[in-house]
Amino acid sequence: MTGATLVREAPAGPAADERGRGRPILIIEDEPALSETLDYALTREGFRVVLASDGVTGLERFRTENPRLILLDLMLPSLPGLDVCRIIRAQSNIPIVILTAKDSEADKVSGLEIGADDYVTKPFSMRELVSRLRAHLRRAEMGADKPEAHVLSGGPVELDVSNHEVRVRGERVELTPKEFDLLENFLRGQSRLRTRNNLIDAVWGVNYFGDTKTLDVHVKRLRAKIERDPHNPEYLVTVRGLGYRFLHRGDAGGFGVETHQG
Ligand code: CA
Repeated sequence: MTGATLVREAPAGPAADERGRGRPILIIEDEPALSETLDYALTREGFRVVLASDGVTGLERFRTENPRLILLDLMLPSLPGLDVCRIIRAQSNIPIVILTAKDSEADKVSGLEIGADDYVTKPFSMRELVSRLRAHLRRAEMGADKPEAHVLSGGPVELDVSNHEVRVRGERVELTPKEFDLLENFLRGQSRLRTRNNLIDAVWGVNYFGDTKTLDVHVKRLRAKIERDPHNPEYLVTVRGLGYRFLHRGDAGGFGVETHQG
């Protein structure tokens, strides 16, 4: 067969595939100056970049490009960033980092509550952004290497999902079913902030209307079984006013954010 085949897109230049291997980073940002700067900086760092300048296009690109990470602006034409985040999170565990000009606590909380991994407030330092992106990618790709894992681990804990067994520093520890579910949830969450509502939905179910104190009591009991000093937890830490995170070894401080001291 010769002749006209339907060409959907102009063929990419030879450099396009060479410049960054593998899956792209998707940037959903409507400010051209910022998305160009990000495109330039991340491409220089060796990433492949795909851009979308509004929410609906962002969702399309998410579906067609199979990105490794999404940088998501909140104030977007056609579909707000928070909706984009919610829709994507319902389908995928991909790292999502919110870019926001707004510095209000409410936006950060809503973003993290619907499953974003981190946020960066504009203006930000490109160097810091890049190192955070690398940390999220490392973390996500570490998790993706062992999708079949029946033993989850984090900090001093090893949790055998199929045998319902937990070891802390090598010693067998007995957990109640809810404590077990809660711990499993934390370990699967890859150090993400889990809000109280996230955790209650996940462990007690969305129809649970009890007090969030139930959760806090379970966290306290888990700490007593995991932590060396339950009053100064190293792993199962409180994020003031928001919820909890389970810090795996090597993570440090911050909330929703890894700090880089080196
Ligand atoms: Ca915007």
